[in-house]
Amino acid sequence: MNNLQCIVCGNTQNLKFELKHKVYKCPSCDLYSSDAAFDLSFQSSLEEDSREIGLKKLRLHNFELIVKALKGTFFKEMETFKGLEIGSGNGWWLEVCRANNIDCIGIEPENTFADYYEKNKLNVVKGFYPNESTASEEGYDFIIFNDVFEHISDLNNLLLSIKKDLKKSGILIINIPMSSGFFYRTATTLYYLKIKSFLDRLWQFNFHSPHINYFNAKNLSAYINQYGFKLLQSFRLETLDFSSIKERIMADSKISKPKAYAISSLLVLIKPIIQNTSADIRVFFFRQ
Ligand SMILES: [Zn+2]
Repeated sequence: MNNLQCIVCGNTQNLKFELKHKVYKCPSCDLYSSDAAFDLSFQSSLEEDSREIGLKKLRLHNFELIVKALKGTFFKEMETFKGLEIGSGNGWWLEVCRANNIDCIGIEPENTFADYYEKNKLNVVKGFYPNESTASEEGYDFIIFNDVFEHISDLNNLLLSIKKDLKKSGILIINIPMSSGFFYRTATTLYYLKIKSFLDRLWQFNFHSPHINYFNAKNLSAYINQYGFKLLQSFRLETLDFSSIKERIMADSKISKPKAYAISSLLVLIKPIIQNTSADIRVFFFRQ
C-alpha cells in the first residue's frame, strides 16, 4: 500500500513512517493512520506486566478529573446518570465510577481481566461493541472511551451505533493520546535519527491491539463533527506520574538498569518542558 484515504477530510495520506507497520499522514489535517489491524488472537509479543506500577495512580487521577467535569458541569442538575465504557481493560474507570456513585457498565472483548471483574463485582459485558447486551432502550447519559478510540478500525460503524445508544442530551467522552504531544514529537525526531523503537512503542505495534489512528485536537473534533456531535470542552490529562517514574522504568525488564536510570533521570530533568508543551493525552466531551 502506498497511501491511505484520510477519514477526516478524504485526502490522500502519504507514507510517513516505516515501522513494524506503515504509518501514513494526511497533508491537509495531519491525521496519522497505520495499516495495522487488530489481532483477534489477542496474542501480544510483549506483555503489559511492568506497566502497572505508578500507572494506576496516574490513571485514577485523570479519571477523577473526568468525573469532576461530569458531576460539576455536564450532569450538574442530575441526581443519577448512566454510562457505558467501551473497552474497559483493567476496569479502573468502572471502579472510579462506583466510588463516585456513577452507574456505569463496561464492554470488553478480552479475557485478561475477566477474573478481576468478577472478583471486584464489575459489570462488564464480554464482546465487541455494538452488542445486544449493551443496547439500552432509554439510552445512556454518557459513553466513554479511555485509550480505546485510537485502536478502532471501523469508526464509522462505531459512531453510528453510538448515536443510537446515546441519549439526545448524552455526552460522548474520548480520552485519547495526541500526535501533537511532547512524546509523539520526540519519538518522531528519534525516528529520523534512525531510532524507531519509541515510535513503535507509542503506536503499540508490539501489542495485539495497535493504534489505527493518531489524532490531534483539531482533526478529532472535525471528524466527530461529521456525525453531528459538537465539542463542548476538552482539557489535558497527565501522562507521567513523576513521583514513581524511576520505579516504573527500573521495573521494566526489557530495559537495562543503566539505560533505565539514564532515561528516568532525563525525564525528571525535562519535567517542566513536558508539562508546559502540548498535551500528550487530552479528554474531549461532545454532544449531539
Ligand atoms: Zn485529513
